[in-house]
Amino acid sequence: MRKKYIIGSILVALMVGAGYFIFFFNSKAPEAQVYHPSTKPAEQQNTPNVSTPKPKTFNKKLYSLDDPASIWVVANKTRPLQPKSYAPSDLVSVGNGQRMRAEAATALKQLFASAKTAGYTLKSLSGYRSYGTQVSVYNNEVKTYGQAVADSESARPGTSEHQTGLAIDVGGGGCGIEDCFGNTAAGKWLANNAYQHGFIIRYPQGKTSITGYRYEPWHIRYIGAALATEMHNTNVQTLEEFFNLPAAPSYTN
Ligand SMILES: [Zn+2]
Repeated sequence: MRKKYIIGSILVALMVGAGYFIFFFNSKAPEAQVYHPSTKPAEQQNTPNVSTPKPKTFNKKLYSLDDPASIWVVANKTRPLQPKSYAPSDLVSVGNGQRMRAEAATALKQLFASAKTAGYTLKSLSGYRSYGTQVSVYNNEVKTYGQAVADSESARPGTSEHQTGLAIDVGGGGCGIEDCFGNTAAGKWLANNAYQHGFIIRYPQGKTSITGYRYEPWHIRYIGAALATEMHNTNVQTLEEFFNLPAAPSYTN
């Protein structure tokens, strides 16, 4: 019995030895195949990977700025929608009787959920407005306050972002479509985090001479997370500046 064991052990040892022999002599780069991070020398572990490709430059021509159905469309006082009577075809509910285009609505839902997690309740107050609605809103303003005031507070029909289905006025923290919203914790959270879900504060503070609108902390515009993140990272606040478009402070006619 003992002899059998010894012979058996020798055979096993020989087989293992032969296995190692074959393994090492057939492997072109055995160290790569039997890589263990813990056995790697410290200086190799800390060497930066110089072959990492540089991030691609952001493609500013990926989507149209003119097509009213493009998520990058830039509508302002000098860039009316073409056609002015444009109406989106994929409007869905975003609660509170408001609607947005499907992609923007999905993103808004995620934005609101993210806000909720942070402790803030945001509400949809005014989303899509049709050309026809904008006609009556604007005409009412003109009738009540005169054209100069109307132009400073409400878009002329065909130039409103609300007509694209990509913009919405939101409120929270005890403020509606009011200046005070920007000073609430909810409003500040929104300004800092909207980009993560593809939204921007479209009419930021100090940019009236570019956007043509006074600071509107409640008006957010969906442009997609890629562009919103790029604008955030490069610290460019307006679409006009990002795309090198002329400032649109007022109507030209
Ligand atoms: Zn608005």
